[in-house]
Formats: sequence, structure tokens, C-alpha cells
Amino acid sequence: MSNEQVKEAFELSAKFIAHQSYQSLTHAFIHFFSSLDTVNEVSSYEIFGNVSVKNDLSIRRFPLTLSDDFRDNKTDVLLKFLAESKGGIYQDTVNDKHWIFLDVIHGVKPRRAILIEGALSSQELVTLEGLYGVYANQVALLDSKERDALTQLSNRQTLQTTLNDIVVYYRNKPDQIKEKSSWLAVLDIDHFKKINDDYGHLFGDEVLVHFSRLMENTFRHTDFIFRYGGEEFVVILNNNNLEGARKSLERFRAAVENYNFPSGKVTVSTGFSMIDPVAPPSLHIEYADQAVYEAKNRGRNNVVYHGDMKAQLRHESNDIEMF
Ligand code: GH3
Ligand code: MG
Ligand code: MG
Repeated sequence: MSNEQVKEAFELSAKFIAHQSYQSLTHAFIHFFSSLDTVNEVSSYEIFGNVSVKNDLSIRRFPLTLSDDFRDNKTDVLLKFLAESKGGIYQDTVNDKHWIFLDVIHGVKPRRAILIEGALSSQELVTLEGLYGVYANQVALLDSKERDALTQLSNRQTLQTTLNDIVVYYRNKPDQIKEKSSWLAVLDIDHFKKINDDYGHLFGDEVLVHFSRLMENTFRHTDFIFRYGGEEFVVILNNNNLEGARKSLERFRAAVENYNFPSGKVTVSTGFSMIDPVAPPSLHIEYADQAVYEAKNRGRNNVVYHGDMKAQLRHESNDIEMF
């Protein structure tokens, strides 16, 4: 390596280390490799569960932007690499295309994978090897800050930062919100205390893990999922209108109702509100919380939109005025 190349590699890794979140670090990583002439496409994944157990595996594509609504078609390539890989960098030709597979497995949960389509030059490969090490270490470090240890989902602190980012995104794109916007839902497991009481705390934990996997498998790649605390979860549904958001949450409610949890049947109460960029971020959680409370009042196992509650309250106060 020439002095110039050493300097460049050093500057690049310093740039990566400066990123304070997994989201922005991974965006930077994808962006850097996408910009090389030898590369056609870069995509990144989170892999939950066990690769060798079919029904236990769940793969989520890393969200690129809030407004993307893509479906991923590289699952077969990904599965092929995942089956062989023990962590590190792999290369192969699959479906007549050349792929580089980066597997971050040690010290991180969930496992992460990056798929690069293209044939890098030997110099670029050296850079990639160096940056892979930097990336893997940083992901492990950021996970301990951003993830919940039990479910591997993003934690409450990460929700606050993500929510702030979303609000800023829509403030800069006021026209987009007329068509589609983001929605924040709070999901609270019904009678969870009884599960703990009947089966024990460890069993309760197991139910929380199953519930998380079901969220990952039911919501889109572009939706963000969090463990808010205890048996409460948050999902931010992106790029959707009111009916789309309602349908998505209703689909999840039914998926929970039909799923066989280790403790048997479980239901969930859901409340949601629109992320209005003009309002303070914490207000959206408060609104969704109020809607969960209403869902519990209505007998649990249902989905309530905070906007409908407001309409209902207006309706009730009109009734009073009439008499
Ligand atoms: P509701 O239908 O009104 O939501 O009833 P609930 O029993 O789900 O609600 P409540 O808030 O009374 O109880 C939540 C329970 O969740 C109480 C607490 O012991 C349990 N819990 C909180 N965090 C954890 C956890 O990490 N693991 C386990 N196993 N239980 C937890
Ligand atoms: Mg609760
Ligand atoms: Mg509950």
C-alpha cells in the first residue's frame, strides 16, 4: 500500500467510527460501496433466529429511506451464503452474478449481513477487508447501546432518536405527508401478568421473544420495530395512508390471535396515531398510549386509531349540547 492509500484507508475508518448509530453507520457503509464503479448494488440485512431451522428464521432488509416500498428478491443468494458462512467475507458467483457477502456474527445480535453485487478490484477488496473489521466492531458497540438484550429489537432510547429523525424528514418534505405518512403504534400484550403468574417469568420472556419474531415477520422491512418496555412494543409504519396503517395493524392483531405461543393463545391491544411533524415527538407516543387504553376498555384484542377517538369525543360533546 502506498502512503496515499494508507492515509485514505485511515480517513475512511475514522469517518465510519464517527457515526453514532447503527442506522447512520450502515447507511454510510452502503453508500461508500455503492459509489464504486465496480459495484452494482449493495443491500444489508438483519438475521433473526436460526438459519438451520426453517420456521425460526426471519430476515429483514435494512431500510434505506422512509419512503421506500421495495421488496427484496435476493433471498436465495442470501440463504446460500448464510448456510455456509461462519462470519467474515465470502465471494461467489450465483445466478450468473458475482457477489461479495459480509457476515457480522460475533458479538452482535441479531446477525447482520451485507450483500454486494459486483466484482471489486484487488485494491478495493483490501479496503473492504479493513472496513469490514471496523464496521463489525462498531455494530457490536452500538448494539449494546441501541438494542434490547432479550428480544434484540431496538430499545426505547433508539425510539426517541428515530422519532426525531422521522419528524425532521417530514418537516423537510411537507408535500409528501399529504399522500403518505408515518404512523406510530403502541402494542400492549393483553393479560401478560397472568402468563407470568401461571407459567413463570422465564416462560413470559419466551413469549416476548416469539412476539418480537412475529412482529419482524409480519411488518414490512421499511417499518421500524421497538421494544418500548416490559410487554409493550412500538412499530412505526412508514409510507402508508390511514387505511393502509389500520390494515397492517389489524393483520398483526389477527396474526397474534392465531399464533401458538409457548403459553397457548395470546392477544394484543393496539393504539396508533399519525406522526405529525409539527407536534413534539413525545406527543405521538402519548396519543398512541391513550388509544391503547381505549382498546383495553373496548375489551382488548383490537386496534384503535387516536384520530377516531377525537371524532368520537366531538360527537359525544355535540350530543350533550343538543340537550
Ligand atoms: P393488560 O391486558 O391490561 O395489559 O394486562 P397486563 O397483565 O398485560 O398488564 P400489566 O401492566 O398489569 O402487567 C404487565 C406485566 O408484564 C407485569 C410484569 O411483571 C410483566 N413484565 C414486564 N417486563 C417483563 C419481562 O421482561 N419479562 C417478563 N416475563 N415479564 C415482564
Ligand atoms: Mg402494559
Ligand atoms: Mg399488557
